[in-house]
Amino acid sequence: MSYDRCVRCGSCLKICPIFDAMGEEQYSPRGKTYLLQIMDQIEQDPEAAKEFRRLLFMCTMCGRCKETCSSDVDLLAIWHEQRGKSIREHPDEFAYLKPLQEALENVQNIYGLDPEDRAMFWLDELEDEIPGLADKVYEPGKKAEVMVFIGCLMSFRSSQLDVLRALLTTLWKSGTDYLVMGAEEFCCGHPLYLIGNDEGAIELRKHNKAVIEDAGAKKVITCCPGCLIQLKQYHDLGDIEALHHTQFFDMMYDELPTYKAEKPFAYHDPCELHRILEIKKEPRSLMDKMHVDYRDIEPTCCGGGGLLRITDPNLSDIIIQMRAASQHLKDTTVLTCCPSCREQLLSNELKTRDIIELVSEIIEEVGE
Ligand code: SF4
Ligand code: SF4
Repeated sequence: MSYDRCVRCGSCLKICPIFDAMGEEQYSPRGKTYLLQIMDQIEQDPEAAKEFRRLLFMCTMCGRCKETCSSDVDLLAIWHEQRGKSIREHPDEFAYLKPLQEALENVQNIYGLDPEDRAMFWLDELEDEIPGLADKVYEPGKKAEVMVFIGCLMSFRSSQLDVLRALLTTLWKSGTDYLVMGAEEFCCGHPLYLIGNDEGAIELRKHNKAVIEDAGAKKVITCCPGCLIQLKQYHDLGDIEALHHTQFFDMMYDELPTYKAEKPFAYHDPCELHRILEIKKEPRSLMDKMHVDYRDIEPTCCGGGGLLRITDPNLSDIIIQMRAASQHLKDTTVLTCCPSCREQLLSNELKTRDIIELVSEIIEEVGE
């Protein structure tokens, strides 16, 4: 196992948001890796083994430890595998994750809501503003070049409506031939993947793949980096290209009008986008095309990843509060491009906007 390669250099301590918040070795990637190396001993003590399993879910799966490790320890793969093993072997300790798993099995979304409502809420809100929107919902037989994968968060949460409005307005104004999946969109499977339940995600992916193929789409786009990981790496989409919305619009626009703001933004790189998918250039290119005044902040996690908001909400709050203080985010607007980061920022009363909101605004302003 790759954890045997850990030489305890300590590089991963300094950059782990969990260690930063908790300050003790056992919360760090190095500490957990060491515990794995001595697992035979740990397993002699059921309480210690149980505590180790709890520690595994105190992690945002941000991937910064893996990126930092020069001994090639694949820490993300280790957390993924160990999480799955823990839940399979000790389901009672993870009963709090059961409602999520059941919701995904029964109604294919993380909220346990009626699948028919996937497009209902935002369609009611937006159909008067965006001509022809109701016709853009997939039904068998409808075809389009681009399939928009909206994802559970953006489909069901009113806090995401402004981003959805901006995305759909920009698609309309740019004349893009697109469809959204509506009730036929199933969760991408990322929440199950994050808890190491690969089996559970297979059926969800199969259904999404069939719908995307049936629509004849050449591209599938999404605002959610977690959904994008699943679409790109696990949906087996063949020649159909899966893109983040910043990639799609960066390819579409060679230039854009200048976006004028009163104060500079702070740009927060979503971990799953810039570190796991290595998509760093396109969000910046899009901002640069609008001459957006922004500063980069330390590329560390907002605390909302890895299902930490479910597994340890207090720790998740501590991480974003520490980040807000160290990166001076209280008096600024945080620009980002991930619905999950957005939820985390908003729930801690930080101002945030998605890059697509700026694109949509500037296009409307100049009447393109
Ligand atoms: S960076 Fe890698 S080798 Fe160094 S302590 Fe962390 S896991 Fe071990
Ligand atoms: S994935 Fe992120 S939160 Fe988890 S151990 Fe690594 S650096 Fe820490």
